[in-house]
Amino acid sequence: MSSFDGGIEQACAKHIFGTYSRFPVAFVKGEGCSLLDDKGKEYLDFLAGIAVCGLGHCHPEVTRAIEEAARKLIHVSNLFYTYPQVELAAELTRLSFADKVFFCNSGAEANEAAIKLARKFSSDLFGPGRFHIISMKNSFHGRTMATLSATGQSKVHKGFEPLVEGFVFVDFNSVAAVEAAVTDKTCAVLVEPAQGEGGLNFPAPGYLKDLKALCREKNLLLIFDEIQSGLGRTGSLFAYEQEGASPDIMTLAKALANGLPMGAMLATDEVAKAFTPGSHATTFGGGPLVASAALATLKVISEPGFLEKVRETGAYFMSRLGELKDRFPFVKHVRGRGLMVGMELDMPGAKFVSRCMEKGAIINCTHDTVLRFVPPLIAGRSEVDRMVTILEEAFKEEAL
Ligand SMILES: *Cc1c(COP(=O)(O)O)cnc(C)c1O
Repeated sequence: MSSFDGGIEQACAKHIFGTYSRFPVAFVKGEGCSLLDDKGKEYLDFLAGIAVCGLGHCHPEVTRAIEEAARKLIHVSNLFYTYPQVELAAELTRLSFADKVFFCNSGAEANEAAIKLARKFSSDLFGPGRFHIISMKNSFHGRTMATLSATGQSKVHKGFEPLVEGFVFVDFNSVAAVEAAVTDKTCAVLVEPAQGEGGLNFPAPGYLKDLKALCREKNLLLIFDEIQSGLGRTGSLFAYEQEGASPDIMTLAKALANGLPMGAMLATDEVAKAFTPGSHATTFGGGPLVASAALATLKVISEPGFLEKVRETGAYFMSRLGELKDRFPFVKHVRGRGLMVGMELDMPGAKFVSRCMEKGAIINCTHDTVLRFVPPLIAGRSEVDRMVTILEEAFKEEAL
């Protein structure tokens, strides 16, 4: 399969920036929950492009939508209307708290837009100087200058200082910590309703509701980064639905177009008004090709019973992982919502990721010690059983 002298690894090292540490595997095909590498080995994919391919690889409905759109119209400027973009916005607002959508091309861009909107809204209403945003420790919001500055992990800041001004970090799951951090410069609170990169941390009961009440009291905007947790991942269309608290602004990306690059920022009418012609723009945002893919994706996720099955499969997966926890003492904690599941170990998880890979399953490790499982939402009990069997074998090698 290899068309490079010396193989793809060498060619990649020669020609591509060294920004990723990659596994020695090259994928050539995907279908549903499975991936095929260039040597013909099949893998069970419990990572799904890191919570991107929610409907699995090459879902027939999405592929058909892409094919049809590619034959009709791929791009025109946002100086004009296109039907898929407006239809998608109508769907997203129908299905969420929001009234308005701004489309972009990635998660970082969606958060950039949210940061700009929060500042502009506050500046319009209260004048300049009120631009601080309270964010969470161990959060992840992206790699552009503003979004890495908004990210509560010093490892992504290092070497890129000076950071964008105005981000303050407090502990996740503490309303008191947010309250203590509010000053007359604060304009918003930015939080992932379920932290992904930070080690799969879920909101304590009442946390987001109390946070919303605090934001109301202090005239702060509440921004939910649902880039990883949104679009069915946690068993509801958006994670916030399970918390009884909707935000003023929400960001989406990852699973939105099931693998095509797309991001979105959603907001209430009141807040969206702060953006006027010229406030913000992007050339590619919401183009007809990606919007068609997203419409097809959203249609499948909103079919009756789809999210119920995600919750059911997630509960079954958690119970099977719980069995492993009982048998292997180095497993400290299993936590999850829907099919966003983490298993915390008392040691670094990288070697288990490699062993699973050898045995034909893809997972990853985040925050050093937490194994992350974000399979396609179409996974069922048989995929869960295969995953657990492979993980068990990887764990047994440790016990020996
Ligand atoms: C992945 C992710 C981002 C960044 O998205 P990109 O598309 O990589 O820019 C931001 N926030 C959260 C919660 C994410 O999981």
